[in-house]
Amino acid sequence: MKILTIVGARPQFIKAAVVSREIAAFNAGQDGLKIDEVIVHTGQHHDGNMSDIFFREMKIPEPHFNLGICDCPHGAMTGRMLEQIEKAIMSVRPHAVLVYGDTNSTLAGALAAVKLHVPVAHVEAGLRSFNMNMPEEVNRALTDRISRLLFCPTETAVKNLLREGIAGSSETSAGAPAVLEVGDVMFDATEFYRRIGKPGKDIQAIVDGDKGDYYLATVHREENTDDFRRLNDIVEALEMIAGTTAIILPLHPRTRKALSRHGLRMNKVTLLGPVGYFDMLALLDGCKGVLTDSGGLQKEAYFFRKPCVTLRDETEWVELVEHGLNTIAGAKKDAIIGAEKAFLSRGTVGFSCALYGRGDAGARIVQALNDYLGGA
Ligand code: UDP
Repeated sequence: MKILTIVGARPQFIKAAVVSREIAAFNAGQDGLKIDEVIVHTGQHHDGNMSDIFFREMKIPEPHFNLGICDCPHGAMTGRMLEQIEKAIMSVRPHAVLVYGDTNSTLAGALAAVKLHVPVAHVEAGLRSFNMNMPEEVNRALTDRISRLLFCPTETAVKNLLREGIAGSSETSAGAPAVLEVGDVMFDATEFYRRIGKPGKDIQAIVDGDKGDYYLATVHREENTDDFRRLNDIVEALEMIAGTTAIILPLHPRTRKALSRHGLRMNKVTLLGPVGYFDMLALLDGCKGVLTDSGGLQKEAYFFRKPCVTLRDETEWVELVEHGLNTIAGAKKDAIIGAEKAFLSRGTVGFSCALYGRGDAGARIVQALNDYLGGA
C-alpha cells in the first residue's frame, strides 16, 4: 500500500516523524502487506534551522519530492502547491494522501488528493479556534470537510466534527468518513525524543545557567506578528517580565522580519535563532513556565508539567484551560504581565490528568491506515 505524506512546516516534520517511525515498525513486524511511504516536502519551511535539522535529528526519511515553494502570499503558495502535489499524486498513484495539522501545505495536499479521488487522511483533525480570521482555521476546517480518515487528538476534536455534521463512523464503505480519536502524535514525539534527544552545547549552557528560573517564549502567529499594536504589547510585556525573570525566546523567521519591519527591539529578552527539537525539549524541561502563541508549545508545556500563558485570544487546546493548566492572556501588555504574576510565577504545578492519549497515537494511525485502506 502506498501512502503519500505531505509536509512543509516545522510542526509537521515533528508529527510526521512519529508516524514514519511507526510505519517502519509496522513494516518490520509484517510478513504480508507493507506500507510504502512517499514523502513530499512542499518547502514552506526550508532552511537549516526550520527544516533540515528536524529531518536529521528525528531520522525522517528523505523526501522524494522537494517542491521548494516558499516566501509567497497564501493564495500563490497554496495554488502552486496544489499544482505540484497533483503532479506528484499522478506519478505515485498512492492509496491515500496523509496530511498534518493546518498549514497551506495541509490544504493543498488535501485538495489535490480529493480532486483525484484519492482518500485524504488528516492527522490532527477536528481542532477549532472558531476564529476564521486565522489562516490555520480555514485550512483545518476545509481539510476536515474533504477528509476520509480523520484522526482526532482529543474528544473535543471529535465533538467539533460532530457539530459540523462530520460524524464518527467505523465504516467507510457507505461513503461516510471515519472519525477516530487516537490521541496526539505530539505527545508520542515528546515521550520518545525526550529520552534520546541531546541538546547542543549552547542550549545546555543556558539551561544549566538559569536552571528552573527562566521562562521559555515563542511568538509567530500571523495575528500577532502582522499587527503592530499586538506585537508591540507583547514585546513590552516580555521586556518588563524579563526585568525580573529571564526569558529565552527562539525567534521564528517571520517574527524576526516583523520586529524589524515594525522597528521594535528587545534588549532584556534573550533572543535565539529557531532551535532544533532536541534543544527545544531541553529548554522546556529546564524552564519555569511558557509564554507562547504556538499550538504545539501549549501542549508541550503540559507534557513537561509547566504552566503556560497563551498569547492569543482563544485556543484550540481548550482542555488545558479547563484544567487550569493554561491561561489565555491575549496580546494586551497588562493582561500578559498580570498572567505572569498570577499564574506563571507559581512554577511547576501538579498535573494528574492524561489529556492527549497514551503515547501510541502514531501506532494507532498506522494500524487504522492499514485497516481502512489495506484492501484498497
Ligand atoms: N519548536 C522547535 N524550535 C523552535 C520553536 C518551536 O523545535 O525554535 C517546536 C516546538 O517545540 C513544537 C513545534 O516546534 O514542537 C511547534 O511548532 P510551531 O510553534 O512552529 O507551530 P504551531 O504548533 O503553532 O503550529
